[in-house]
This record gives sequence, C-alpha cells and structure tokens, in this order.
Amino acid sequence: MLKEQSYCPACGARLVERPLEGEGLVPYCEACAAFRFPQYNVAVSMIVRDATTGNILLIQQYGRPFYILVAGYVSRGEAAEHAVTREIAEETGLTVERLRFNRTAFFEPSNTLMVNFTAWVGDAAKLHANAEVDRWRWFEPADARANVKPGSLAAQFLNAYLDEEENAHREEENR
Ligand SMILES: [Zn+2]
Repeated sequence: MLKEQSYCPACGARLVERPLEGEGLVPYCEACAAFRFPQYNVAVSMIVRDATTGNILLIQQYGRPFYILVAGYVSRGEAAEHAVTREIAEETGLTVERLRFNRTAFFEPSNTLMVNFTAWVGDAAKLHANAEVDRWRWFEPADARANVKPGSLAAQFLNAYLDEEENAHREEENR
C-alpha cells in the first residue's frame, strides 16, 4: 500500500504504516503526527453513443491530431455519474439518457484513477462542441476502433467495451 506514496506530502518525511480505527493500516507521518491517505485524482472517461444509431463519438482536443474519448475530472464531493452527465453537457451540449459503468484504470502520468462509462445520448444531432473540442466525429463501432489513438487509455477502454459487445452478440447468435 505504501509503494505509491512513501513520503509525507506536507513535510517530505518517510511515511510508516499505522492502524487506524475502522480503516486498517494507513500511511502515517511521525513528524506531522498525521495520517496521510494516498492522494490521487479521479476522472471519468466516456464512450458516448448515439442511442438511435449506436455510433460512437470521438473528439480531438488541445491541438492534438488524434481521436480520443470525452473525459473530465470528477470534482471533490461529486458523484462520478454526475461528472459524466456534466462533462458531456459542457463539452458537447448533449443529454445523457442512460449510462453504464464499464471499468477503471489508473493513469500514472497524471496520478489519476480513470473511470470508464458508456453514455447513451438521444440528441446526437444537436451536438454543439465547446472551445475545448477542436474536432469531433460520430463513428460506427468498427471505425471508432480504427480511429481512436492507438495505445491510449481511450483505446484500451473502447476496445475492451467493443470486445465485450461483440462477444455478447456472438453468444446470442449461437444460442
Ligand atoms: Zn509530515
């Protein structure tokens, strides 16, 4: 547990582990006499789908020439599900009708736990991207796979989700 956060963020002293009532062993700074829970960010990543066509929205941002998923940070005190609908509304003006949790992954470069959802929107044609989005496009699932940035976390989430969906279809057909 101490592997990722071995030093006190306030004074830099090496942390030890100490039992905390109801929490088990928790990193502790003897210099500050304070428990130091691991700190990291939480963000949501969304596979936005047109509820009518099943097409998937990919976007380009910050001048980078590759397609990724819509994503954003969860605010302190905010539920991840709320962050999903809020971020999609802010970045695309679209309304989430239904969402499904997919999976999570830790993204080391930004010290962030990424929580991936699928969000179905009923008003895909009304998409109005904000200034944070350079370019956007709706892709059929196979094209989304082909166009998402290779090797990215977005690709990992999207491919895992589409693999599951294809397997489910195959099982249905074989029944
Ligand atoms: Zn300290």
